[in-house]
Amino acid sequence: MGGSSPCASCKLLRRRCAKDCIFAPYFPPDDPFKFANVHKVFGASNVSKMLQELPVQQRADAVSSLVYEANARVRDPVYGCVGAISYLQNQVSELQMQLAVAQTEILCIQMQQEPTLPTQIEPDEKSLLLSTENLNNLPQYLAFPSSSNVIQDPLKRESLWT
Ligand SMILES: [Zn+2]
Repeated sequence: MGGSSPCASCKLLRRRCAKDCIFAPYFPPDDPFKFANVHKVFGASNVSKMLQELPVQQRADAVSSLVYEANARVRDPVYGCVGAISYLQNQVSELQMQLAVAQTEILCIQMQQEPTLPTQIEPDEKSLLLSTENLNNLPQYLAFPSSSNVIQDPLKRESLWT
């Protein structure tokens, strides 16, 4: 800091940038817009107070948080960064649903392929595979509650296999 050019904050506030200016380490003169939104949303004096209350090693993190929140608030005046958070949460739950659908499809394909896999099954072995004992083991292969409910329902199972 040669002291020749004031930091972005002091430049915007049109004041002399002191040697110990609290903004100077975080708002360099080459990035004037970084401070503009922070000042607009939080107010320079509030930001100065917040930074003064923090230990020096935490100030950089606080500034990047303030900058992020201020930019989000300018972009979305109603929800701010909560808008971004809920957008991402929606995306996560949408993707989780897609994943569940894909996993169900994989399971269905695997179950369709299973009977054809052992090609040399003796006739009485085939009937063993369809015995009730083996049917009772079916639900443990079904990870999804909706499909296992169907299998576990004794009435449904009876109608399926009789
Ligand atoms: Zn300054």
